[in-house]
Amino acid sequence: MKVLMIAAEAVPFAKVGGLGDVLGALPAALRSLDVQVRVVIPKYQSIDKGRYNLLPLGDHPVRQVLLGRIPVPVQYYHTVLPDTDVPVYLVGNDAFFQRPGIYDDPISGHGYEDNGERFLFFSRAALALLEGLDWVPDIIHCHDSQTGMIPAYIRTGMGPAACTLSSTVYTIHNMGYLGLFPKSILYPAGLSEGFFYPGSPLEFYDHVCLMKAALSYADCLNTVSESYAIEIQSSAEFGAGLDGVLRTRRSDLFGIMNGIDYKTWNPADDPKIPYHYSMDDISGKYENKKELLLRCGWQTPKERIPILGMISRLTDQKGFDLVLARLEEILSLPLRLVILGSGNKAYEQVLQQAMLRHPDRISVHLRFDDALAHLIEAGSDMFLMPSKYEPCGLNQLYSMRYGTLPVVRATGGLRDSVIDDDHNPYRGTGFSFEAYSAEAMMEALHRSLRAFQDVSRWSYMMNRAMSCDFSWNHSAEKYKELYLYAISKRRPAY
Ligand code: ADP
Repeated sequence: MKVLMIAAEAVPFAKVGGLGDVLGALPAALRSLDVQVRVVIPKYQSIDKGRYNLLPLGDHPVRQVLLGRIPVPVQYYHTVLPDTDVPVYLVGNDAFFQRPGIYDDPISGHGYEDNGERFLFFSRAALALLEGLDWVPDIIHCHDSQTGMIPAYIRTGMGPAACTLSSTVYTIHNMGYLGLFPKSILYPAGLSEGFFYPGSPLEFYDHVCLMKAALSYADCLNTVSESYAIEIQSSAEFGAGLDGVLRTRRSDLFGIMNGIDYKTWNPADDPKIPYHYSMDDISGKYENKKELLLRCGWQTPKERIPILGMISRLTDQKGFDLVLARLEEILSLPLRLVILGSGNKAYEQVLQQAMLRHPDRISVHLRFDDALAHLIEAGSDMFLMPSKYEPCGLNQLYSMRYGTLPVVRATGGLRDSVIDDDHNPYRGTGFSFEAYSAEAMMEALHRSLRAFQDVSRWSYMMNRAMSCDFSWNHSAEKYKELYLYAISKRRPAY
């Protein structure tokens, strides 16, 4: 079985969120199931050619891709996913990708105005790549709205000739990013106005919607947890207004929980943390805690006080409105709060001001910092994720692996992965709350603090959390089944 994965991020080359982690790990897990996977991502400015051994595909026949009638130059590079034999192709174009951000301008914090053109170019160039490879995928697996037009191209016969028999699979990583653009994007997309009418497969409130195009045209769909697959069909809020479209595709829509990369996220040999540990010898965790306290400018307190960690994009989705509504109260509790994240400038400002008021209680790091993320996972006792919605969530999985007990809102993948220890005595791996409210969050936080006081209960919970299996093995098998299903659903282009 041959699978071409096309996405805007892949670890270690480029990562903004969980999408990058998935593309960095799932292909290798599929390789071990004898699936021949290849990956295509953009060649961003931040991807160092020397560091990743990028070589130009010098003899590739395609040198330009049409955006409407305008020929746009393309350069292809290739390498492999580190420590694997999975080929990775990178699509280069200086005008679109030689800039500092991936989706957003780091100075303004806003998305680039030409993101529509950038990712349509990427999508077309990723398909054109196949014209120069002696390799035809059975499955073209697209991820999130940046690649949403690809299933439409394949299904309407606008893809490469060799791919008319390829099936398409589309993975929804987050319904919150629909890829909405004005109708004028039809031109660079190479689509006639006939594709655009009220209720058409890509029209959404008088805009072109790349997510809707994928939901309409892909042979089969999945999202990254079973609960989120149900939630997005259940209401306009969860389904971002596309719940109706999702319901019409319900027999082709599946939930497959993300795994985590056990090579990158393993406290027993993680090179990004100073002290290694495991369930058998947990002492290194407390050394990491001391190191984290030091990094935050704090002395190790005499009493046993938990560190509550958060690592997140600072967006509404992640529940920061709840945290900020009760920040003073949280900081009056016997804990230390460490937050790593960036995004919403208003949230950044409030958090920074809180740090000035309570430098001994809260430490805020407003940046993307992978090494610090590992130390926070290793050195914290608890991890807070009060998300409004959460397609899968990876940090609660990393937390459990590192013996850091999550306190989460029961939604999407958080519901599917964290077992509340008060509701399931002797089985719990963390704490969860149902209602999206500050009261419910505080109640769960208080329960977790009570549990922390009981040293033996806490240690049993840590053991249970650390022994959960969140590796990719199981989920990769489900993806393989999904591919077989997609092949059985293959419909001819029209
Ligand atoms: P999402 O994809 O919605 O952002 P996930 O929990 O699925 O959320 O994945 C987020 C990933 O990005 C995790 O690997 C997390 O550790 C990482 N991450 C988020 N913000 C930062 C940051 N500021 N610094 C380092 N890593 C971060």
